Amino acid sequence: MREDYLEKLRKEEIIAYFSMEIALISDIPTYSGGLGVLAGDTVRTAADLNIPFIAITQLSRKGYFKQEIDKDGNQIEYPVNWDPEKFLTKLPFKTNVEIEGRNVSIQPWVYYWTSLHGHKVPVIFLDTNLPENSEEDKNITDVLYGGDLAHRLKQEIILGIGGAKVIKQLGLRVRKYHLNEGHSSLLTLELLKDELSSGKSLEEAEKNVKEKCVFTTHTPVEAGHDKFPYDMVTKIMGNYISIDIIKKFAGNDILNMTLLALNLSGYVNGVAKRHQEISLQMFPGHRIHAITNGVHSFTWTSPSFRKLFDKYIPGWATEPELLSRAQFIPNEEIWNAHMEAKRDLIKLISNETGVQFDENVLTIGFARRATAYKRPHLLFSDINRLKKVKRKGPIQIVYAGKAHPKDIEGKKLIKEIYEYIKALENDIKIVYLQDYNLDMAKKIIAGVDVWLNTPQRPLEASGTSGMKAAHNGVINFSVLDGWWIEGHVEGYTGWSIGPSPFEEKSIENHVQEEIDDLYNKLEYIIIPTYYHHRDEWIEIMKNSISNLASYFNTHRMMKRYITEAYFKIG
Ligand SMILES: *Cc1c(COP(=O)(O)O)cnc(C)c1O
Repeated sequence: MREDYLEKLRKEEIIAYFSMEIALISDIPTYSGGLGVLAGDTVRTAADLNIPFIAITQLSRKGYFKQEIDKDGNQIEYPVNWDPEKFLTKLPFKTNVEIEGRNVSIQPWVYYWTSLHGHKVPVIFLDTNLPENSEEDKNITDVLYGGDLAHRLKQEIILGIGGAKVIKQLGLRVRKYHLNEGHSSLLTLELLKDELSSGKSLEEAEKNVKEKCVFTTHTPVEAGHDKFPYDMVTKIMGNYISIDIIKKFAGNDILNMTLLALNLSGYVNGVAKRHQEISLQMFPGHRIHAITNGVHSFTWTSPSFRKLFDKYIPGWATEPELLSRAQFIPNEEIWNAHMEAKRDLIKLISNETGVQFDENVLTIGFARRATAYKRPHLLFSDINRLKKVKRKGPIQIVYAGKAHPKDIEGKKLIKEIYEYIKALENDIKIVYLQDYNLDMAKKIIAGVDVWLNTPQRPLEASGTSGMKAAHNGVINFSVLDGWWIEGHVEGYTGWSIGPSPFEEKSIENHVQEEIDDLYNKLEYIIIPTYYHHRDEWIEIMKNSISNLASYFNTHRMMKRYITEAYFKIG
């Protein structure tokens, strides 16, 4: 029956979606953060909309990593041992690529994501752990974002070139290849090579590849783009394709994966309007569009709010724009659904840490990848001020997030948060939950009262966790960057932190203004509203659902990809 499904896809012109990480379920730990969750939500939505779609990713047998944190706040990393056989099925063929002159064999596995209505999207996982491969090559696909630069290039060869070959071997006709971030850019070279070997001129080949490729960039900072020196490229890729051709599209001095994808994709977009502007500054002369991210509404709505929406807004899960009617749900029922999610989180916190949170206390949440630009410590910039703020009404705070094993700054930040937890232990209850994953994210984001986000702008390309919060009536309190610039109406859909997005200020003044605003709004607006104007608070919860969740979802996002990137002529 499953093979039948691929047979069905062979009759269609499909979208082939490439992403180094895809977060489908917590038990398939092949994701690190927002990029993978977006890819997962994209797959879920493609299945809901029943569009001809297939996704390709890396198997990552040791996952990303399992996080433990010792009592002093040091992150300890363990490989995740998960059993692909339990969740995935091997496809009845292999493919291969050449790496350092060796033939490297790749086994594709498949997982079928099934929507609420029974529609499917196959997700192909690429695996090099095969007996015929050398020890070294067996490990290429072991750890997501693991190893050194050469290892990274090999992973990107497997994903881009190996993935494109798997699609060909499956006999699928592809309408568009969608590159979710630059990790899969090498697929453009595989397509180019096919065009050239069928006798096309370079010019024609370039035009044809561009017609086939859609590229979504996620990185608003130059240093974040994958780059590989050409001596490494030559050593690893041999004469896969003439180096002059690579240089023509990927840069003269170094292979820049973003540039390669930009130059060989006919449609390019950033993930929020602000991010489009930043990308245009980084790559002047390119046409870059904006399709703002979303989240998969059903996945990110807690059980209690699902029940409530089913009662008042039937059909919301497959048509989340209907959530705009949330205004009509009685306040009391909104509050009860929220309290149910909050108790669920309090239970999780108690199980994980032994710390007992109070359901009547204003609870602030902060959970995402631990990395410098996200500034998880901004809330603790002035501890005495924070203590003063809290005299207006008690608060409790929950943190979670992993730092990439090589992100020294990110790890330092976790340690710092642990120090603040100790320094404030007599004033504010704060916990840091270990090993953040999809299931934990669902509970934390739905169960807090306020979702805090303090990125250093303009580095938050979009951000999606705040959209998940909005689906659960959790109120956003955030720096004006990424999606929040588009969603924020002060005091109506939530609160901003710091200056308006286009105000130019010196860094010091800017940061000071953010810190002052953070404490002032907590002290004079957020805490008083929560404790003394509950109806006003619930109105903002409802506005979050009706104004934010109804728009910042992947159903709206996918429909835009379909009409603007996948199915537009020319
Ligand atoms: C949504 C999500 C993220 C992304 O969070 P941002 O605040 O948008 O960076 C990261 N990790 C997990 C597990 C998530 O569910």
